[in-house]
Amino acid sequence: MNKEVTEFIKDKALINGQWLEAISGKKYPIFNPATSEQIVLVPDMGQADTRLAIEKAEQAQKLWAKQTAKQRSIILKRWAQLVETHLDTLATVLTLEQGKSLAEAKGEVTSSINYIDWFANEAMRINGDVLPPSAEGNFEFVKKRAVGVVAAITPWNFPNSMIARKVAPALAAGCSVVIKPAEDTPLSALALATLAEQAGIPAGVLNVITASSGQEVGQELCANPMVRKLSFTGSTEVGKILGRQCADTVKKLSLELGGNAPFMVFDDADLEAAVQGAIAIKFYNSGQTCICANRLLVQDGIYEAFIAKLQEALGKLRLGNGLQPDSTHGPLINEKAIQKVGSIVSKAVEQGARLVQGGSHLPEIGKQFFNFTILADVTPEMEVFKTEIFGPVAAVYRFNSEEEAIRLANSTNYGLAAYAYTEDKGRIFRLSDQMEYGMLGINTARFVSETVPFGGVKESGIGREGSVHGIDEFLEMHYVCIKN
Ligand code: NAP
Repeated sequence: MNKEVTEFIKDKALINGQWLEAISGKKYPIFNPATSEQIVLVPDMGQADTRLAIEKAEQAQKLWAKQTAKQRSIILKRWAQLVETHLDTLATVLTLEQGKSLAEAKGEVTSSINYIDWFANEAMRINGDVLPPSAEGNFEFVKKRAVGVVAAITPWNFPNSMIARKVAPALAAGCSVVIKPAEDTPLSALALATLAEQAGIPAGVLNVITASSGQEVGQELCANPMVRKLSFTGSTEVGKILGRQCADTVKKLSLELGGNAPFMVFDDADLEAAVQGAIAIKFYNSGQTCICANRLLVQDGIYEAFIAKLQEALGKLRLGNGLQPDSTHGPLINEKAIQKVGSIVSKAVEQGARLVQGGSHLPEIGKQFFNFTILADVTPEMEVFKTEIFGPVAAVYRFNSEEEAIRLANSTNYGLAAYAYTEDKGRIFRLSDQMEYGMLGINTARFVSETVPFGGVKESGIGREGSVHGIDEFLEMHYVCIKN
């Protein structure tokens, strides 16, 4: 590991501008999923540390919100520049703790820069309204102001950009933040916080709590009345728990939850483009993405040709340690994930699916590598139809008509992202009307950027991140009526 990378690997958490051990003195290890080697020990914090961070965040927020939008914007821009300067180092830290290839990690850090920069600009556009008076002589207006202290709980699959996507709009709005990154991947959050400090974000405005279990920290973040907003990205199951826990203090909530994305390929599709799209969005981050194609629905006429081409394209990918330049894809996050994905595959095969390739983990590369897998002849009756796979397994279903494809695609409690490949213009409009998803890509599988309102419907979540709407999640309206 080079010196700069070592300098960015923190063994302490950040509260009120101070790098601290846990009050209990406890620590827990962070492992490299590609090699199973321990990278570092970090503080194993709990309720008392979280309460301290919230109190400090509350004090700091009042002063931060008093700064002008321009001052906050300048500091955020400086943060974006620092992240850009250290892009390669941050990408290496990300690959070390999460496993994705260095190329994917660089892409993720670049998207963080874009989010921070975008919200630095959005800070300058928090406008209110002057209303037509509701009674003679009244002067009435609405201003938008920061919600207050924000709790951000993030997952391990995008440990860098999930922080930027929440923290940048929160800070732009004038909020302070207590982040609880995922147990397995706190190092990117700590590295970003290091640069935020250098950029001039005042002590207490950005705090990072590391913990080996989300439960205790999460309970305090949800129950503490000083926290006025919870922004969570993670599983639907945990999102529901957190929603219930926030009910007693009636917090504003953003929930970016799980997905079960359909990827529809119609007979008239550009087959080559569809296969490339499937490779890009099914196997991105080794299949560990909320918007990954989870169900590949392919029409009768091109069904076998699609599978054959998919298999051929998979042959060009290379699993390995993400730090090695020829690795295109990395390991799964932990051994539990290996077991979960293995059991999804074997259950589907037991239920009648055809294993075209893969289906097992690859201990010869490392304990946490799972082979690129294609399951064909999967049917909606099988359990995998309802399961978020979160691994490099392409489950391919056959359909006959457009009506059947739309019905199958919408037959899920999730509603995050969906994809369709077709050249039929009429169908494109019908799909854009009928698909019950927050985001729909037609003839493209990569459409996420800072300009896009990212988020889902149904049990995939509440609220949007990114775009001109992202900052509203951290603002509330304040109406004033002045008589005469
Ligand atoms: P997860 O198990 O729900 O965990 C997410 C975060 O919640 C982690 O920081 C976790 O901490 C914490 N957590 C877990 N149980 C908690 C509790 N009882 N109270 C408070 N916090 C708790 O999800 P994950 O496995 O990390 O991530 C994968 C899931 O995230 C998938 O379902 C994926 O679809 C979803 N996701 C959604 C989006 C989106 O934008 N919609 C983006 C990325 C991922 P610990 O790590 O300590 O358990």
